Amino acid sequence: MATINDNYLKLKAGYLFPEIARRVNAFAQANPEAKIIRLGIGDVTEPLPEACRKAMIKAIEEMGDRATFKGYGPEQGYPWLREAIAKYDFQARGCQIDADEIFISDGSKCDTGNILDIFGDNNAIAVTDPVYPVYVDTNVMAGHTGEANEKGEYEGLVYLPINAENNFTAKIPSQKVDLIYLCFPNNPTGATATKEHLKAWVGYARANGSIIFFDAAYEAFITNPDLPHSIYEIEGAKECAIEFRSFSKNAGFTGTRCALTVVPKTLTAKAADGSDVELWKLWNRRQSTKFNGVSYIVQRGAEAVYSEEGQAQVKALVSFYLENAKIICDRLTEAGLKVYGGVNAPYVWVKTPNGLSSWDFFDKLLHTCHVVGTPGSGFGAAGEGYFRISAFNSRENVEEAMKRIAEKFRV
Ligand code: PLP
Repeated sequence: MATINDNYLKLKAGYLFPEIARRVNAFAQANPEAKIIRLGIGDVTEPLPEACRKAMIKAIEEMGDRATFKGYGPEQGYPWLREAIAKYDFQARGCQIDADEIFISDGSKCDTGNILDIFGDNNAIAVTDPVYPVYVDTNVMAGHTGEANEKGEYEGLVYLPINAENNFTAKIPSQKVDLIYLCFPNNPTGATATKEHLKAWVGYARANGSIIFFDAAYEAFITNPDLPHSIYEIEGAKECAIEFRSFSKNAGFTGTRCALTVVPKTLTAKAADGSDVELWKLWNRRQSTKFNGVSYIVQRGAEAVYSEEGQAQVKALVSFYLENAKIICDRLTEAGLKVYGGVNAPYVWVKTPNGLSSWDFFDKLLHTCHVVGTPGSGFGAAGEGYFRISAFNSRENVEEAMKRIAEKFRV
């Protein structure tokens, strides 16, 4: 008889988004005239930059001609894309990352999960609370945790609370952990990390032989010139960090799919016999075996992000969402709410007023303003009492949602 991976049974059944959908549907049925505005999901809304579209159309034409047709590409990505990324995303910021340390993939979601393939099962793992749920669930699936308690915390994981008191940046743990997930700019809180904060983490990781998983999916939203975009801006990070990046949020590739993972060749971890093994070799082996590369067409589209035209268009796209975020922050503050994030990030993290729970605030906003956001408690126990509003939407919807809040919402 076939058996299953029992770890899947430990997963809390995708509660957050189905529950949001259930409440929104119930409200919509009872109030068919209500025009509901959804500011809950982290998906982009604006079309692909023209430079990317043009490059992909040209690539499709090449695929239609025997002389320029491409079959399987390199599993790690085409060298021209890896070189452009190394040059513009890393070397231009003083990070000595080489093209062959960059692995192109079809998403950071998959990479942040798949990376566990090359690590052992006995690592102590730290995540922030609240957190991007993929980091937790992929560890549950891999059997790295026990059961969840009633708050949704899994036995065996080290939770590092992030809240207004610590500026939504986790305190360096007193105990020893082997793998640490950091995400800056942060989903869901919109917080950023200073160089000093990342230096502290790199120091901790090097002292303890730990590896940092640095998720920089939202780095393009950093406008403050003092903030680091990459963990490799910190000396010593090439010895202790893997970085994940994506074209999803800067260039609107959520439906097109292209991302990258940086595994420096200087990065090692211990084998069972105590020897040091290069993680680059293992990730290269993993990708070559389990992945057959991102389509040529999509990689040409991603490459166009680095053209002069592409850079200007991506910048405009990011500025558009950041302006949405500013409108959200300003209007919510005027309505008497305390907001965080939304300056170097597309997410606004709202403190629920009058001690309301995340779900009570969700209901209040839905019923009085017909606006949907995401309850903070869905991102972890320490997200209780907070609420996430996404700036990924049309200007019209953002303006309208904020107008309703200003008119109807009273703290
Ligand atoms: N990392 C974070 C923190 C995210 O919020 C998301 C998407 O919302 C991703 C990764 C996923 O990126 P991708 O679309 O490249 O899979």
